[in-house]
Order: sequence, then structure tokens, then C-alpha cells
Amino acid sequence: MRRPDPPNPTDEASEFVEAVWRCRQNASFPRELAAVYAKLDAHLAELGPVCWAGGACCRFDIAGHRLYITTGELAYLLGDADPPRPVAPGRCPYQIGPRCTARGRRPLGCRVYFCDKSVKGYLEASYEDYHEQITSLHETAGIPYHYVELTAALAAAANRPATGKSAEQAQDPPDNNPNVI
Ligand code: SF4
Repeated sequence: MRRPDPPNPTDEASEFVEAVWRCRQNASFPRELAAVYAKLDAHLAELGPVCWAGGACCRFDIAGHRLYITTGELAYLLGDADPPRPVAPGRCPYQIGPRCTARGRRPLGCRVYFCDKSVKGYLEASYEDYHEQITSLHETAGIPYHYVELTAALAAAANRPATGKSAEQAQDPPDNNPNVI
């Protein structure tokens, strides 16, 4: 019996990007995702984990970890602008110097990562909990769920035709709780 052909990575990437672009047309998803992020940020603010390294965690090639993003989170991260061009392997193109230029739109993985290992277990549990909530948002909105490594996801998105607005000009989507950083 002939084995089925392995999935074509190009097809998978274009399905993912197509799903992201469909999500960018969805008016309610960004508000709902913003509400989930706001709840998480409020929990983390109460916990008060410490950030020590000033952006070292965003240099994946040095930090030695990988960050994954869902379909809807990539749509939210892009906002209404073009995807940024890839910078270097293992680097997030939204990082300029130590600073995240997409802080209000950054995905779950960025929000729960802290150098403070005393709260590692809590942060891991929070990731699982909120990732489940974000997965449910995809199901409710009928948005195909994909879970893709961040730099690969951004590189795939960068192949999509331009909208003419640079990543630096992206507006944050509507935020239900703008007071939470
Ligand atoms: S989106 Fe921002 S916080 Fe997340 S990896 Fe990129 S620069 Fe870092």
C-alpha cells in the first residue's frame, strides 16, 4: 500500500498565513484576546515576578529557547501593519536594542516569560491555563488554530503582499483594559 505523501511545508505555511489574514478581518477576536491578555497581565502584576535581563529572553539564539504563537495571536501581534522583515536567525524582528516595539500586542509566551525562577511553576501553569483560553477563542470564532514557532511564523507572514504600513506604524488593537501594562 502506498504511504500518504508527507505534508508539504509550503502548503502548511500558506494555510497558516491565510488563517492569520482571515483573523485580521475579524472584528471581535482582537477585543476578546485583549480581554484574556488583560486578565493575565493583572494576575502577573499581583504576583510581581522580576525581569532582570533587559530583553535577553527575546534573543532566542542566545537564550536557547523557542517561543510559539497561535493564529489569532499572530494576527493581533501584526495589528494593522505589514509584518516586519526577518532580521537574523533566532531573533525577533520586533526587538530594537533591548526594547520590544510591540509590547501591547506581544503574545502569551512573551507575557509569561520572566527570569525570576522562584515563580517558574506558577508561570508555566498560567501559560497552560491562558493558552487553553486562547484556543477556545479560536474555536468560538471559527478561526483555524495553528501553533507555530514565532520567528518562522513572522517569516511566513512577511511573504504576504504589503499593506503599505510599516510594523513601526502598527496601531494596537482595541484593548479592554488599557491601564494594564
Ligand atoms: S514580541 Fe516583543 S517581547 Fe516578544 S519576543 Fe518579540 S521583542 Fe520580545
